[in-house]
Amino acid sequence: MTEKIYYTDAFCKAFDARVLACEEINGHFAIRLDRTAFFPEGGGQFGDSGMLGDAEVFDTQEKDGEIRHYTRTPLTVGDTVHGVLDFAKRFRRMQCHSGEHIVSGLIHSLYGFDNVGFHLGEEDVTIDISGVLTDADLRRVEELANEAIAKDFSVRAWFPSAKEAAALPYRAKLAITEGLRLVEFPGYDICACCAPHVNTSGQIGVIKLLDFANYKGGVRIHMLCGEMARGDYHSRYTAVKKISELLSAKQGEVAEAVERLKGENEAHIRELGALKKALAETLAASAAPTEGNLLFFAPLLDAVSLRTLVNTALPKCGGICAAFSGSDGAYNFCMASKTVNLKQKAKEISETLHGRGGGSPEMISGNLAASRAEIESYLQ
Ligand SMILES: [Zn+2]
Repeated sequence: MTEKIYYTDAFCKAFDARVLACEEINGHFAIRLDRTAFFPEGGGQFGDSGMLGDAEVFDTQEKDGEIRHYTRTPLTVGDTVHGVLDFAKRFRRMQCHSGEHIVSGLIHSLYGFDNVGFHLGEEDVTIDISGVLTDADLRRVEELANEAIAKDFSVRAWFPSAKEAAALPYRAKLAITEGLRLVEFPGYDICACCAPHVNTSGQIGVIKLLDFANYKGGVRIHMLCGEMARGDYHSRYTAVKKISELLSAKQGEVAEAVERLKGENEAHIRELGALKKALAETLAASAAPTEGNLLFFAPLLDAVSLRTLVNTALPKCGGICAAFSGSDGAYNFCMASKTVNLKQKAKEISETLHGRGGGSPEMISGNLAASRAEIESYLQ
C-alpha cells in the first residue's frame, strides 16, 4: 500500500520514493510508488501532475486501491526517484476545494441544503446544491465565506474512531464504513473527504460566487477561489478595459454603452434594409421592358432586396428576370419567370454557371461561382 504523503502534508511539493511497479497501458506507463505526494483524482478534484525523475506525470488515478502515476516514459522498478509536483496547480485546486467546504457548510447550516455535486476544472468550479437559492442568499453566503477566510483558522484533517465519528454531525456523500477521513473547518463544516486542503482558511485568499442557475431541482453555483479568482479578475478587467476604451465609456458603464450601441446598430440595419429595398425598386423602375431575359447586377443587395427587385421588374420581362449581388466568382442570385419553369432549369443553370440553387417553378435563388461575363453570355 502506497503511503499517502498528502494526507499528512498537503504542502509537500517534492519527495523521494521507490518505484514498486511500472506497467505499460495503451502506450503509457502506470507507475506505482511506495510513497507519494501526488493526489489521485477523486471527490470532484483532478489528479496531480508533475515529474518523477525525468518522466512527466500527466495524471494520477487510484484504481483498485492503488495509486497510479501516468507517464509517457518508463521508470525502473526498484529505483529511487525524486518526485516534484506541479504545485502551483495543486495549490489553486486546494484553494477552490477548501473554499467549497466553507460554502457548502454555510449553505447547509443556513438553508439546510446539501452539496450533491462538485467539479473542479482548470477554469471553472461548480457546486450543485439540492435546493433553490436566490441571488441574495448567495451574496450572504459569499460574505460569510470571506469572513471565514479573514479569521484565518486552522483546518483539521484526521481519521476518527468509529465512536468519535458517530458523535459528529459531518457531511458525507456516501456512507463510509472504513478509513473515514474527516476534514473540519471549525465553525463552518465537518465533511468526509480524501482530498488535500489548505492548512488555514486564510490560504484560500478569496471566495467569489460568480453565477448560478437552476439545476435538477436545486442550483448549480459557479465559484472561484484564490489564484483562480485573481486570474479571472485579471482577464475580466482586461476585457472591460478594452471595451471601455473602444466605446469611450467609463468601465462601470460599459453595459449601458453596449446597449446603446446595439440599439443604434439595429436602427442602422433597419435603415439599410429600407435603402436596399428603395434601390431595388429604383433599378426595377429604370429597366426597359423586354420579351427576352432581364438582368440586374447590384453588388450590395441582400437576399430580400434581390427578391424585391425581380418581383418588381417581372411584369416588364417575357423571359427570365434575374438579379445578382456580389462579385465575380461569388454571386448570389434570384430569378423569376412567368414563362420558363425555373425549377426544371435550375440544374442547367447550376451546371453552366458553377453554382447551386433551388426554389419553385416561378422563382429560384442560390449562389454562383461564375463571372459576370459568363452569366451575361449564358442568359442574354
Ligand atoms: Zn475536501
